[in-house]
Amino acid sequence: MKFNINSKFIDYIAYFLITISIIFITLFVSNNKMILNFFNDAENKSFDYRQSLLVKHKHLKPNNNIVILAIDDASYEYVLDHYGEWPISRKVYTDIINLIEKDKPKAIVFDLMFIKSFKNDSASDKLLADTMAKYDNIYTGINFDNESFDLRKPIDMPEKMKSNVDIQNKNINFEKVFRFTNCRPIIQQLLDNTTKVGMININRSNDGIIRTAPSFAVYKGEYYPYLSLIVGNDYVNNNDKKAFVIDKNSNLKSGNLNIPLTNTGECVLNWYGPAQQTYKNIPFYKLVELSKGHKISDTYNFKDKIVFVGTTAQSLFDTKSVPIDKIYPGVEIHATYLNNIIDNTFIRKTTQIADSIIIIFLIIVVTTIVFLSTSAIFAILSTSLIATAYYMASYYIMKFFNLWVPDILPLFSILITFAISYLAKYLLKSRDFEYQYKLATTDGLTELYNHRYFQDTLRKQIETSKRYNQPFSLIIIDIDFFKNFNDSYGHQAGDAVLKSVAHILKRNTRATDFVCRYGGEEMSIILPYTDNKEALANAERICKAVSSHIFRLTNNVECNVTISLGVSTFPQDGDTPQAIIEKADKALYWAKEHGRNQVGKNE
Ligand code: GH3
Ligand code: MG
Ligand code: MG
Repeated sequence: MKFNINSKFIDYIAYFLITISIIFITLFVSNNKMILNFFNDAENKSFDYRQSLLVKHKHLKPNNNIVILAIDDASYEYVLDHYGEWPISRKVYTDIINLIEKDKPKAIVFDLMFIKSFKNDSASDKLLADTMAKYDNIYTGINFDNESFDLRKPIDMPEKMKSNVDIQNKNINFEKVFRFTNCRPIIQQLLDNTTKVGMININRSNDGIIRTAPSFAVYKGEYYPYLSLIVGNDYVNNNDKKAFVIDKNSNLKSGNLNIPLTNTGECVLNWYGPAQQTYKNIPFYKLVELSKGHKISDTYNFKDKIVFVGTTAQSLFDTKSVPIDKIYPGVEIHATYLNNIIDNTFIRKTTQIADSIIIIFLIIVVTTIVFLSTSAIFAILSTSLIATAYYMASYYIMKFFNLWVPDILPLFSILITFAISYLAKYLLKSRDFEYQYKLATTDGLTELYNHRYFQDTLRKQIETSKRYNQPFSLIIIDIDFFKNFNDSYGHQAGDAVLKSVAHILKRNTRATDFVCRYGGEEMSIILPYTDNKEALANAERICKAVSSHIFRLTNNVECNVTISLGVSTFPQDGDTPQAIIEKADKALYWAKEHGRNQVGKNE
């Protein structure tokens, strides 16, 4: 294996790609519902947190002209007290409309459904419908659902209630959430006489919290707008535009209207403040009293106001949870929607492509920091700093640009990237260290331990053997007539033979023995826990193994090589490195003197 700066860079790229793959495979490729839902829910919670902070700091100013005529708990009590039942006669609403209209309000919006039922008094139903038609600024709701046709037949909606929606973005799909097969019928005269009837369905997130409001319901293949969308559209366009375009960037447009949509055709609401504290709330029963001609202490003026009428009474159980409040009346959700239209403050979500780019960018930054930083503390601190900065940035981006950039996936990516690249860096470092260590202790040609390592090991072995009172032996080996060999076959052939001899030595020793290149063509073996007799036998075996080996120099040149060996043993031959080496050397010399290709004797 060869190591250099380039291979480190390649490693860096490799680890970076691994990190990205892990994150993207887990999330997008695996498409695991549980994982996706987990991240989705967590992201929603982080959205709620940002919204709560913004509301706490009174980021958005609610429109003063929006007023809630609240059927609150007091009004509910009043109704039960005076009329004995809920809902009350439609006559009461007619009276209130007539009362408010005297002030010339901008609009009266009923977040209520005037259901067609046998129980109701049809004369007062007709009166209400006629009154609504008389004034051109009164709106009411209708509710779609998917109830079975056994229960009720789907009604036919008048042609004039349909909206013309030109969807230019293929990613927007109303079918998932807002496609319905049935409808709760409202008073027929209302359907016949007015176009200001809006859908009041709502869709909750997984966790039951309402973060979005719809734009259209699809019913029998036609588009029917959300109640406050009609109100808002009339408000910003000052006319009855029924034609809408959803452009390539997911914006719902019509004249001055411009609403960013999600890919299910919903709008993410931007909240103004807590329930019943944001818009002026007027208890419903007070207007009932006024409409009956009773004197009350409060005075009201509805000039140019947009009056939303709806229940806020908790005893009516019409409660919703929204990001900033656990209990939030539906009528205030409509008010918020309208306010978002007027201020152009709807929240836009970043696209999946933008999210991916953000994540890749963060992975690059964190990987680079980890790889460049020399201390762990610095790496941890700067990565935490990036995570904090990102988190804060996401808050300010929502504040100043009404843009919802993801928090959870990017922060998760930062964490994972840090972990993986830190691990990678550690692995690289330890591999680097291993390499350096090998370089410092190994002989390049034979891959045996080098002379320095031999000296160190010999010294340590003497200490160990002394401490545990155990013998060890040393074998020194010298190739016979190697100078001649070089002269006849060349230096390169000599090198090849040296390598082969080293290999034979390795094969004929234990894993615990240390085979070293002592110098030139001399080698040495330290044999721990081996006495003289064993070492001599081992030396004999090695001698035979070398002499019987046929060295193949080229395809047709073969030759034999012999070695001479000298053995010494601790403690009998000495207890210092010098003494032990000298003794083995002497034996080797003896072997050379007595004909070579043998193990020397100590005389
Ligand atoms: P002897 O049997 O007495 O040992 O004879 P010899 O020729 O082997 O004598 P000596 O051990 O003194 O010779 C050492 C020779 O080994 C000198 C040199 O040519 C050769 N040699 C030493 N190191 C290397 C090496 O790394 N590669 C090659 N090819 N030859 C080496
Ligand atoms: Mg020699
Ligand atoms: Mg020699």
